[in-house]
Amino acid sequence: MITRFAPSPTWKLHIWSVRTALFCYLMSNKAKAEWWKYILRIEDTDTARSTKLFEQNLLDGFEWLWLDRDAWPGKDGGEWPYYQMERLEVYNAYVQKLLEDGQAYYARETTEELDAMREEMQKIKKPFRYRQRDYTEEQLQSFKDEWRLPVVRLKLDPTREIVFDDLVKGETRFKLEQFGDLVIVKWDGVPTYHLAVVVDDIEMNISHVVRGEDHLTNTAKHIALYEAFGHDELPRFGHLPLIMNPNGKKLSKRDDPKEVWLVLIDQFRDAWFLPEAIINFSAMIGRNPWTEQEVFSLQELIHEFDITRVQKANAKYDFKRALWFNSEYIKNMDDAHFVAQVKDFLFLYGDESWKEIVEHSEDAHWMKLAPYIKVRIQTLRQFEEHCQYFFTRPESVDATIVNREKMKVTPELVSGFLPDLIHLLEHMTQEQWTEETIKEELISFIKAKELKNGQVLRPVRAILTWVEASPGAFEMLYVLGKQESMVRLKEYIEA
Ligand code: GLU
Repeated sequence: MITRFAPSPTWKLHIWSVRTALFCYLMSNKAKAEWWKYILRIEDTDTARSTKLFEQNLLDGFEWLWLDRDAWPGKDGGEWPYYQMERLEVYNAYVQKLLEDGQAYYARETTEELDAMREEMQKIKKPFRYRQRDYTEEQLQSFKDEWRLPVVRLKLDPTREIVFDDLVKGETRFKLEQFGDLVIVKWDGVPTYHLAVVVDDIEMNISHVVRGEDHLTNTAKHIALYEAFGHDELPRFGHLPLIMNPNGKKLSKRDDPKEVWLVLIDQFRDAWFLPEAIINFSAMIGRNPWTEQEVFSLQELIHEFDITRVQKANAKYDFKRALWFNSEYIKNMDDAHFVAQVKDFLFLYGDESWKEIVEHSEDAHWMKLAPYIKVRIQTLRQFEEHCQYFFTRPESVDATIVNREKMKVTPELVSGFLPDLIHLLEHMTQEQWTEETIKEELISFIKAKELKNGQVLRPVRAILTWVEASPGAFEMLYVLGKQESMVRLKEYIEA
């Protein structure tokens, strides 16, 4: 089995490309027992829009996802990646053969002439399909005088119907009459995507072409090209369902990512998602669930993968699922790994105050807070945004976070019970300072005072953290430790 991922470097790496690449990767890995290969081919024949920056973004994205590590066996030995613009001679040989056999021909209309032809057809409400035209001697002479550069077109037989058995969609049919003769070489001599993709898939012995459903009609044209080359052994084709954004439109690279959902891999990376979670998330887009299990390691995905289980209908892009997968992966990280990752991130990308913290804080404190915060954040960046209170005291005292009229938490209430609570906590020994004992002590304190849990626990938690959301009061008292907790509670009274 030989699959390939063939991105055009005309935009940054996005999640649906990752899904395609991943599915190719899973398929070829599953077949690893046999001879397998997974090729990366940069389809850069769209010279106007392809850039090296986008190409680098694609490669960086794959590196971040760890998908390039063993995915492209040619990497260290053979060619890696393949670039179509370096293979023009190969394509040219194929085109020459088609021209010699009369299966392809030069066409010389200008864009304006083609537009005019299209308009003519529109007037009589018919679709425009370019077919080979006979030029007169005079026309040919005037084309020559004007130095017109021709394109090369492949003749498509309008009486033919192309039928293929798609791995995802099942039997698929296209009548060639719906397409005009296919441009395979542009006026500048560069092959079009259609020609390059077919030649490369033949030359690289690709056995399985897996790509997005937006290429489904292209496949009919491609099969016509295979036939023109006399290449009978077609690869198997599999077209993955389109991904629709939450507004029901095809997910676009232009969807505003800052708002509600992310689509570009570098955005996920910058928001401190975990690559493993993104892999798992993208593997689940458009797959019929066949087990309750959703969290799969890459090895498990390889084992489970079956392209024929991919759904036929359009898939929904649910960014909340990405957050969910990420939080699952964070939750399941062991504490030491979690601490190491967060510290790396903070040190690399955090602001100066975080760098200071990372340098001067003790590992034991990090290990203590890890289990409490792992279960609460969805991305590692949320640690940077929300968790300073584990290390620093608030600069200014904002009593509105502490008091809540609705919950009957008033300034009088807090200043009434706080001194007694401080007194109680102060008499606890270091040995007693466990989450369990703190909980017991506080609960009996609340009972004795005839208050509700929330009337004490909420303000205590808020005084310790000065944020709206954090681990609860017992947990915070325990993680901050006796000394630091006492300082924070006392400072509040004194303020
Ligand atoms: N270069 C094409 C794209 O980026 C690849 C299509 C294919 O896999 O054949 O959409």
